[in-house]
Amino acid sequence: MGNVVVVGAGIAGIQAALDIAGHGIHVHLIEREPSIGGHMAQLDKTFPTNDCSMCILSPKMVDVERHPLITVHTCSEVETIAGEIGNFTVTIKENPRYVDSVLCTGCGDCVEICPVEVYNRFDAGVGVRKAIYKPHAQAVPDIVVKDAEHCIECGLCYDICGPGAILRKDEGKRVTINAASIVITTGYTVFDARNKEQFGHLILPDVITSLELERMINASGPTGGKIKRLSNGAVPKSMVFIQCVGSRDISIDRPYCSCVCCMQAMKNAILIKEKSPDTEITLCYMDIRAYGKGYEEYYERAKAMGIRFLRGMPGEIRADHNGLILQVENSETSEVLVLHPDLVVLSVGIGPSDNAAGIAAKCGISLEATGFFKPAHDAVDTVATLCPGIYVAGTATAPRDIPDSVASGGSAAMRAFIDAVRTRSA
Ligand SMILES: Cc1cc2nc3c(=O)[nH]c(=O)nc-3n(C[C@H](O)[C@H](O)[C@H](O)COP(=O)(O)OP(=O)(O)OC[C@H]3O[C@@H](n4cnc5c(N)ncnc54)[C@H](O)[C@@H]3O)c2cc1C
Repeated sequence: MGNVVVVGAGIAGIQAALDIAGHGIHVHLIEREPSIGGHMAQLDKTFPTNDCSMCILSPKMVDVERHPLITVHTCSEVETIAGEIGNFTVTIKENPRYVDSVLCTGCGDCVEICPVEVYNRFDAGVGVRKAIYKPHAQAVPDIVVKDAEHCIECGLCYDICGPGAILRKDEGKRVTINAASIVITTGYTVFDARNKEQFGHLILPDVITSLELERMINASGPTGGKIKRLSNGAVPKSMVFIQCVGSRDISIDRPYCSCVCCMQAMKNAILIKEKSPDTEITLCYMDIRAYGKGYEEYYERAKAMGIRFLRGMPGEIRADHNGLILQVENSETSEVLVLHPDLVVLSVGIGPSDNAAGIAAKCGISLEATGFFKPAHDAVDTVATLCPGIYVAGTATAPRDIPDSVASGGSAAMRAFIDAVRTRSA
């Protein structure tokens, strides 16, 4: 009695877990991926300070792992939720990792010897990973996971693993937790740019998404921090960012603003300009939304660095033997421009988590028309839901930046904590 379950271990869930446990309540933190950290672990720097994302996140991840009152369940998903505030029964399925988490030292010998390379989701497909792998260098827990779907059972990893931690069979297990309250922080998914066919993502190799750029720009990412054209490996001399791809677009039923795309595009343009001042960068936009503390100043800084802000949206991206071609009307001057960038970055919007509907059905809480979780009240009760004892926070409820995700994670934590204390003293 008196535990709290937090579902989803991105920055919002991590903050919620640390705040609740910091007040003496036991937290079960459920994460479906093999490492905690969420999207923030994929980012290079964060606007508007250009702080290193992992330098902020990694200490929190380690604090979670070491906290005596936090039990982390990775590779895990909620199966059922029953009961009511003060007395929920949550069953979770821990999916097979095919690795003994006590014996694995995270040395990486098995990763090195594994002959299979597959698509690396953490690197947004820019790099590859092995069939046995660590999600990334600062993963928590710092151990490997075997991808049974792609493993060819060559046996090399079993032979090389000193402690014998790699398992041929693993059924996973089911765990039942009693909880006073539940916090849902299942985050977001980025828009699949293939749904805007006119931009040619995954057809034209030099058209990438903002998340792919985040991985490329990251010194520990698949290109070692070098921005490259995927067609020929050359360093781009000119780049175009296209904003609102999958945001503010009623033609694909995504009418809302994704909140972070203007700022993250400016951030990456600034970082590229800092490293290569000669790179020509044009940002095609509808409106610039720089609403937060220090954001407008950041916009001014980007302009002062020579980043061109072009108010207009290209209709399509074509390619000929010379490279990419975009036609765009500058809506401030009515001038029609034809651009020939070496690399195009699509600033993809933020959508609801791919499993939000399933979680909502299990919890008996509602979704908005957009697919994000619906809070009890958008102005004055932004983390409660219509089900007492179940709270929602971070980008699970709406597109948000990191500071807002942390703030709402902390806010949900306090409500969940109060429920837990009341349950204990009842
Ligand atoms: C390209 C790009 C750049 C960005 N740059 C910045 C920036 O510079 N500064 C800034 O402030 N913001 C930035 N953002 C926004 C930032 O990524 C988010 O604000 C932040 O990561 C949201 O954290 P979260 O915890 O709400 O969600 P997430 O990071 O999405 O975490 C959710 C977690 O829940 C897990 N999960 C999902 N479903 C389940 C389930 N059923 N069971 C268990 N676990 C589950 C997921 O695996 C994930 O670990 C950027 C966004 C993008 C797309």
